[in-house]
Amino acid sequence: MLSTHDYLRLLPKAELHCHFVSVMRVPTLVELASTHKIELKTDDLDALLDYEGLPDFLDVFNAAHLALTTGDEIARVAYEGVEDGVRDGNLRYREYFINPDNFAPRGIDYPSLIDAMTDGLTQAERDFGVGFRIVAAINRSLSPETAVKMVETVIAHPRDVVVGIGMDDLTPEFTEDPLRFREAYELAQRHGLKTSAHVGETLNASPQNVVDAIETLGVDRIDHGYRVVDDADALACAVASGVPFTCTPHSTHMLSAWEFTPEHRIAQMVRAGLPVTLATDDAVFFKTDIGREYTHALPAMGLDDAQTARIARAGFEASWCDSAQRDRMLADVDAQILALSALR
Ligand SMILES: [Zn+2]
Repeated sequence: MLSTHDYLRLLPKAELHCHFVSVMRVPTLVELASTHKIELKTDDLDALLDYEGLPDFLDVFNAAHLALTTGDEIARVAYEGVEDGVRDGNLRYREYFINPDNFAPRGIDYPSLIDAMTDGLTQAERDFGVGFRIVAAINRSLSPETAVKMVETVIAHPRDVVVGIGMDDLTPEFTEDPLRFREAYELAQRHGLKTSAHVGETLNASPQNVVDAIETLGVDRIDHGYRVVDDADALACAVASGVPFTCTPHSTHMLSAWEFTPEHRIAQMVRAGLPVTLATDDAVFFKTDIGREYTHALPAMGLDDAQTARIARAGFEASWCDSAQRDRMLADVDAQILALSALR
């Protein structure tokens, strides 16, 4: 008899909301920071990820960006991140957000960044069979003009593995304001790129931000989106759209102090019939992993085997790889779920 914990951990998983730098192992971060003389507040691996407030977290997060300097280092971090995902939660596919504008100050241009990631992820795909795609993300703290330039760069350097754009961080006024970046989204869509946006996440975010992203920006996926359940009309709009949501339980606990209960907004979204899939967001920096997102959050939210299997499957259904690869993955997922369910 397979325990709920083991069943959830072994469910095959596709992770669609993963910021690349956040797959970096802590010992690797400490090693690379030492190599490049980036100062960390401590060498104690546990204490490094204990934050006293947001500035403390941002110091570590920024140090991780600064520590990634060469193509080999980027490829290594990419490879190790896949190995960890397989071990911790039977990861089978992942899409990575990467903010090219965060790397430009380090002298790493867009094609070099993508090609280095691709090297590591392709090697990991050979070794572990984990597929991947990359999503170039707009850093919302920068200007709408910078966002358009970033999309122009993506279009000027086409790569098969880069399939869309996203949008993260907050504006300088600490808002989500998705419509500020409308021009960048229209440009991306005209060139066949998929789109997603971080909206409806923070305490001051509104359900309308989710509606704006779906109806006006025309996104293919929503990242977070929890506030949508706070307004019946917004929720009805989201359900009718069929747009999938990439939800990250531990980050809601870390950033909004929401407890994992049946009233958690993610559980409400599942019960409302939204296509919900789970991910880690910033795995290492939030001390979580893709297995833990399922094993710790879902039972406490009161979701049963059928619901959790549907969440796992939704990650593959909502992926942006080509349809032949998606169909292959879904067949494999269904086989694994069938085999696991027989042990329950
Ligand atoms: Zn995120």
